[in-house]
Amino acid sequence: MTPGEAIQNGDQFDVVVVGAGNAALCAALAAREQGASVLVLEKAAEHARGGNSYFSGGLFRFPFTGLDDLENVVGQMSQADKDRIEIDPYSEADFYSDLMKVTDGLSDPELAGKLVSSASDTVKWIEKKGVRFVLAYGRQSYEVDGKFKFWGGLNVESVGAGVGLVDSLFDTCEREGISVAYETMGSELNIDQKGAISGITTRSPEGFRTISTRNVILASGGFEANPEMRVRYLGPAWDYAKVRGTAANTGDGINMVIAIGAQAFGNYSGSHAVAWDAGAPPFGDRRIGDLFQKHSYPLGLIVNRDGVRFVDEGADIRNYTYAKYGKEILNQPGRVAFQIFDSQVYDRLRDEYKIKEVMSATSDRLEEVATELGIEPAVFTQTISDYNESVNDGHYDPSVLDGKGTTGITPPKSNWALKLDQPPFTGYAVTCGITFTFGGLKVDPSARVIDTQGYPIPGLFAAGELVGGLFYENYPGGSGLTAGSVFGRIAGNGAGNNANSGNQPKQA
Ligand SMILES: Cc1cc2nc3c(=O)[nH]c(=O)nc-3n(C[C@H](O)[C@H](O)[C@H](O)COP(=O)(O)OP(=O)(O)OC[C@H]3O[C@@H](n4cnc5c(N)ncnc54)[C@H](O)[C@@H]3O)c2cc1C
Repeated sequence: MTPGEAIQNGDQFDVVVVGAGNAALCAALAAREQGASVLVLEKAAEHARGGNSYFSGGLFRFPFTGLDDLENVVGQMSQADKDRIEIDPYSEADFYSDLMKVTDGLSDPELAGKLVSSASDTVKWIEKKGVRFVLAYGRQSYEVDGKFKFWGGLNVESVGAGVGLVDSLFDTCEREGISVAYETMGSELNIDQKGAISGITTRSPEGFRTISTRNVILASGGFEANPEMRVRYLGPAWDYAKVRGTAANTGDGINMVIAIGAQAFGNYSGSHAVAWDAGAPPFGDRRIGDLFQKHSYPLGLIVNRDGVRFVDEGADIRNYTYAKYGKEILNQPGRVAFQIFDSQVYDRLRDEYKIKEVMSATSDRLEEVATELGIEPAVFTQTISDYNESVNDGHYDPSVLDGKGTTGITPPKSNWALKLDQPPFTGYAVTCGITFTFGGLKVDPSARVIDTQGYPIPGLFAAGELVGGLFYENYPGGSGLTAGSVFGRIAGNGAGNNANSGNQPKQA
């Protein structure tokens, strides 16, 4: 069967993967490595395939011992290039401690341990599967004293970002003979008298089909694109959030398996949500990708419509604050906020500020920026002047926590506090863009789905966004793709092994 071709009622596969994003495709490839016949079900049409992974920046967080080790992923570099790079090694212990730091110690220790110990090997495995990687110079380094100083434990992105990642994985799946059925969603899991997976019912414009299989891997994303579930779990006003990626992740996988007794797990009231252009469409735009995000706020200030600051823009390296600041913006009047920069930092703003689809205003006068964007001008100018007076002396270095902060204002700006007094000034209007949800299913470190009695459901695995327990309230940037690949690969290996040990579809 070639991609796009309809499946038939009663078709049999050793392994069926639900979803076609990064986690699903890694799972499919790992199961295929074990010799299993694999069917991938993708709810979206072929032109909209790839889930959130397609929209992503393609940044992967993983431990490495140094630049030489990174060359195993990005390829060999010239000595001249290496001489211009400063990257601190990032150990498994560093990754684990970052995960625990941003989640207030709540990340499930077993899952977190599995993630950090498997991450490096898994990224190297994906590279062998055809995904190409480069150092993320533009997003994760600043040029300081002629050197590119990388920061925040996150250094590598896939070539062509999420598009490159997903296209490479699909190409490899096709080469490996993995079948993909588009516009075909998993809608119900079938279980036998022993409580084991016996098949899956699919739904497509042609109607329902039943596929016979003993192994299902769920990798169909979270519930971020479902406004009813967002309000139910995240709380009031979350129906207003813009969805940064696919419209397909409506919690189907979670609902499907809760219905057969799987255990809900993790931070159902939490999500990854960022500053996102206020004029962006309700769902991701495949042409723009992730460029509606506005992640350079540590270089400037953020105010609300009343002209008041409400977060510490310099609390930590961007990778450790951006995923929780979307929620702070949702809590502001009108669910909008404004990032303000002066000419001292323009050169350091990320590429996403340079697209023409931005809601912004520039002027030599702060009042004009405020009036044009709809910020209360008198309070705003007072806020900026209070801030300027509070800025401490010190050495400014955006590539480290430089400690150059403020005194006497609330909230403080703890690092990178430069006076905002060099016109022209530019303000960017942002709102809350939700990326993915943190609550999901309980899985063990072998990616097996656990039921409400604490037992694995035979033949059922899960990976990606719908795995609960890894992230609480916050998230270290670049962990979503890595987690999807790690648990996707584990799930695929587990399901493939099951099939090899006789857990195959029953003959009709
Ligand atoms: C704009 C943006 C930028 C991001 N940048 C990064 C980054 O640089 N680094 C990083 O680590 N993370 C990033 N993320 C987060 C990252 O994309 C996700 O954590 C990760 O891609 C999730 O992978 P997944 O395979 O679980 O889900 P997805 O990639 O979303 O895949 C889910 C799949 O399931 C399908 N599906 C849904 N329901 C069904 C159903 N019932 N039946 C069949 N199929 C179904 C969907 O169509 C989709 O194909 C970003 C996300 C966004 C939106």
